[in-house]
Amino acid sequence: DSEARARVVAQDLQNVMHPIVQHRALEKSQMVVTGAQGSTIVDADGTTYLDAMAGLWCVNIGYGRAELAQIAAEQMQAMAYYPHTAMNLPAAQLGEQINTLMGGDYHTYFVNSGSEANEAGFKIARQYAKHEFPGEFRYKTISRYFSYHGTTLGTLAAGGMGERKTKFEPYDGSFVHVPAPTCYRCPLGLESGKCGMACAKLIETTIQGEGPQTVAEVIVEPIMSAVGVAVPPDGYLETVQEICRKYDVLLHVDEVINGFGRTGKMFAHQHWNISPDIMAVAKGIVSAYLPIAATVVKNKVFESFLGEVAEARQVMQVNTYGGHPAAAAVAVRNIEIMLEEKLPERAATMGAYLMDGLKDRLFRHGITGDIRGKGLLIGIELVTDRESKVQLDGKLVQGVVEFCKANGVIVGRSGGGARHSNTIVLSPPLVITRGECDTLIEVLDKALAEAAAKAKP
Ligand code: PLP
Repeated sequence: DSEARARVVAQDLQNVMHPIVQHRALEKSQMVVTGAQGSTIVDADGTTYLDAMAGLWCVNIGYGRAELAQIAAEQMQAMAYYPHTAMNLPAAQLGEQINTLMGGDYHTYFVNSGSEANEAGFKIARQYAKHEFPGEFRYKTISRYFSYHGTTLGTLAAGGMGERKTKFEPYDGSFVHVPAPTCYRCPLGLESGKCGMACAKLIETTIQGEGPQTVAEVIVEPIMSAVGVAVPPDGYLETVQEICRKYDVLLHVDEVINGFGRTGKMFAHQHWNISPDIMAVAKGIVSAYLPIAATVVKNKVFESFLGEVAEARQVMQVNTYGGHPAAAAVAVRNIEIMLEEKLPERAATMGAYLMDGLKDRLFRHGITGDIRGKGLLIGIELVTDRESKVQLDGKLVQGVVEFCKANGVIVGRSGGGARHSNTIVLSPPLVITRGECDTLIEVLDKALAEAAAKAKP
């Protein structure tokens, strides 16, 4: 009721600091989420929204699965916590599930967030290099401009998303950047399909320039998400892997958003012919029912951490909550549900349905520059006109997000500074229905019509 809502709002505004959202905006919207089911969330005043972002790209199996609450409760009664310096059943099961999904050549290190999964990846790559290349000093990570790998200083240094990064400079010199395959706006000014994969090849130049004996790994998000959904051309990831292999550099994929069915396969890198050495997962691993994430490493890397006690080759890091039994138990059931309900396949078919509908309806507006994606990870890039590709004014892009919300649909917007913040992004729960896709298309159509009218000179 409105009194209870007012209490929460007052209590929150007095005491709580929120991520990324402006406090003044939150004060105005007073959004308090009190319930959620399937792809729908409910505000304290009873307003319902179709959540086409699945929270923060994460509630892959949809909201409101009561059985997961039951599983968490049972595990907490049986054994709520003991550090993962010992073994526990749910974490062992989860490790086995992930290894099976990856084809059987991997071990998993458990952490609590996507950022931490990537950080652990950086550290594992460095420690691996210390073991394997004792005469060298391989510590650098090569990453792409405009990528997002997390919110900690290390992952921010790896990424490159406008103010989210620049406000915290300087960073240390371990992270070296190359251009990303954001083909609609090729950073090298080349024509898609005729570029000879020049941006991938620059990774080789970079390794040579930095000195191979200083480079530990290359990190890529197979399909870049936050920058506005950039699907690499076929052959890009294979070329990156080939270069990595040539110089004994590990290939680290960030599947924090891409993973667990989002793009129509269990992991996005499985769309291409690559086999990562390190993989960071979070979000969909547990559909955000509890916090758990993981750094998955190929056995060749894992085996480097074996050895006699005196060698001190063990993983030189620890986190209190890693392998948390309740979170792991929920993640195990989450993955079972994905397999039982064939949610990756569903993401492929429903994603194709949504994509067709979006292309059919939205390209009627001159401000629709590009619609791209894979499975249920989609970006709609807005421009002043298709010919010039000039980015649509940020206020109008934000206006689309707000129009959708006022009409009961939550969509996202890309980040990445002036170059890349004009894309509407969609990442709904994988259980989204056809009817909900139709609603999403309908509302976006109206939102773009309004933005297009405002954009007229
Ligand atoms: N990597 C990618 C690709 C992400 O999109 C995110 C978060 O959105 C992260 C890492 C960081 O995950 P977390 O917010 O759980 O730390």
